[in-house]
Amino acid sequence: MAQECIFCRVVAGELPSDRVYQDEAVVAFRDIHPVAPVHVLVVPRRHVSNLGELEEGDAELMAGLLRVAARLGRSLAPAGYRVVINVGEEGGQTVGHLHLHVLGGRTLGVLCSPG
Ligand code: AMP
Ligand code: ZN
Repeated sequence: MAQECIFCRVVAGELPSDRVYQDEAVVAFRDIHPVAPVHVLVVPRRHVSNLGELEEGDAELMAGLLRVAARLGRSLAPAGYRVVINVGEEGGQTVGHLHLHVLGGRTLGVLCSPG
C-alpha cells in the first residue's frame, strides 16, 4: 500500500466509500464528485500508479478490471455506458492509482472537448 495514496486508503477501508463491488483483486465504489448519474470507479486492490505501469503478468488483473466495469455498466446503466481511463497530467489523471471510470445514466456528450 502506498501511504499517501487516496485509493489505497479507500481499498484498505481507512477512507469511507460507497462500495458497489469487491473481490480479491478489485474494488469498485462511487465517485465522490459524479459527472453523470452513474459514476463508479473500478480500481485494483494493489497499488498500480497508472495504465502504463501494468506489466505482462498483469493481463489477468486488467481482464478482471474490465470484466467488473462491464458488469457494473450493464447493471447500473443498461441503456449504455462509457469506460474511461485517464493517464498522466494531460490525460486528466488526478489520482495516481489506476482506476476505470464507468459513466452512464444519461446520454453522454462528446468524448473530448476541443480543449
Ligand atoms: P481522475 O481525474 O481520472 O484521476 O479521476 C479521479 C476521480 O477520483 C475523480 O473523479 C474524483 O472525483 C474521484 N475521487 C477522488 N477522491 C475520491 C474519494 N475519496 N472517493 C471517491 N472518489 C474520489
Ligand atoms: Zn494506491
